[in-house]
Amino acid sequence: MKINKNYANLEENYLFATIASKVKEHARANPNKKIIRLGIGDVTLPLAPVVVESLKNAALEMGHAETFRGYGEYQGYNFLRQAIVNYYEKKGVNLTTDEVFVSDGVKSDSANILDIFHKDNVVLIPNPTFPVYVDANVMDGRKIIYAHGTKDNNFLPMPDENVKVDIIYMCSPNNPTGAHYTKAQLKEWVNYAIKNQAVILFDGAYECFVTDPELPTSIFEIEGAQNCAIEFLSFSKMAGFTGTRCSFTVISKELKREETSLHHMWLRRQTTKYNGVSYIVQRGAQAALSDEGMAQIKESLAYYRQNIITISQTLDKLGVWYTGGKNAPYIWLECPGGMGSWEFFDYLLEEAGVVGTPGEGFGSEGKGYFRLSAFGNKEDTIFAMEKFTEAVEKLKK
Ligand code: PLP
Repeated sequence: MKINKNYANLEENYLFATIASKVKEHARANPNKKIIRLGIGDVTLPLAPVVVESLKNAALEMGHAETFRGYGEYQGYNFLRQAIVNYYEKKGVNLTTDEVFVSDGVKSDSANILDIFHKDNVVLIPNPTFPVYVDANVMDGRKIIYAHGTKDNNFLPMPDENVKVDIIYMCSPNNPTGAHYTKAQLKEWVNYAIKNQAVILFDGAYECFVTDPELPTSIFEIEGAQNCAIEFLSFSKMAGFTGTRCSFTVISKELKREETSLHHMWLRRQTTKYNGVSYIVQRGAQAALSDEGMAQIKESLAYYRQNIITISQTLDKLGVWYTGGKNAPYIWLECPGGMGSWEFFDYLLEEAGVVGTPGEGFGSEGKGYFRLSAFGNKEDTIFAMEKFTEAVEKLKK
């Protein structure tokens, strides 16, 4: 018997555990101090009423013999896949329902997709990054090359013709930086992937935060992407489904490597290892995509966006460099006073009672940077930014 030794190469991710223990310790030492968490990547607003209604109705259906459902369709119910196709149509992207695979999360799909690729492939991952991409590839023992996000490239690394890779992870709008690629930039990545026969794994978990009509919300808005990209989208941030669980993966039937359809391989993988999202949840997701659902969801997104405005206006006033924000729920700022990420974390907690996320938890390029999130409560965010201002101004003195 042999275990997968690659697991020994995983770096322990102490980020959120360390944050939690530092905050707990601080709260214990300062029992009367208000502590505001602007570090969270989870949503806080409840599900839209039309979604809840649909979940309830679907649950009732499951209680009657005539409407009860057992195992569902492998790729998800057609009613949801059709709603997703319609959603894409509004972006100007034409899909067919059989190019959509409904699933329970982008986290799982963006890692599980690796099943269809050889372990000898070289993978390109941005630094800083959502940690799942790294860990899933380390578990497989795949060689990782990092695409470095820095202040100079606005945390939007571009392809390098001298670096040959097979699999490319991209996330736009990005977690943790909130940075967003333009169509022209994505076109360069698509050109690179086609030229090198690479496959782009495009994580669009935050596409719903894009307000600028010039910015792409899907890799499939870029010509040629159907021949080189797989896209993952989630209801998590769009519709508050982080605890309800529903997402989907889009693979064009045209996408082939070594004369083999990747669409077919993923279908084979999913039908073997996965039995789908519950009927009830798929009905909830369908309701989220209805006109009424989208109108209700937009209210939640506008609420979070207001927090982003509060945070970015504060940073603008203070003259702190940052990226992200406008079309994303995250702001990625340079720690004031040349502080390190953890140093600033400690300082901000101590001085302002504000909790953010140290950038270096997302990769070495995050050193000296800090992530603030828009997913908090409005009044708390305003209060937190007042305290933040006082703390940063004190540093300047
Ligand atoms: N992708 C990115 C970039 C994320 O930041 C997150 C969650 O924070 C996810 C995927 C997880 O998505 P899901 O809830 O659909 O698994």
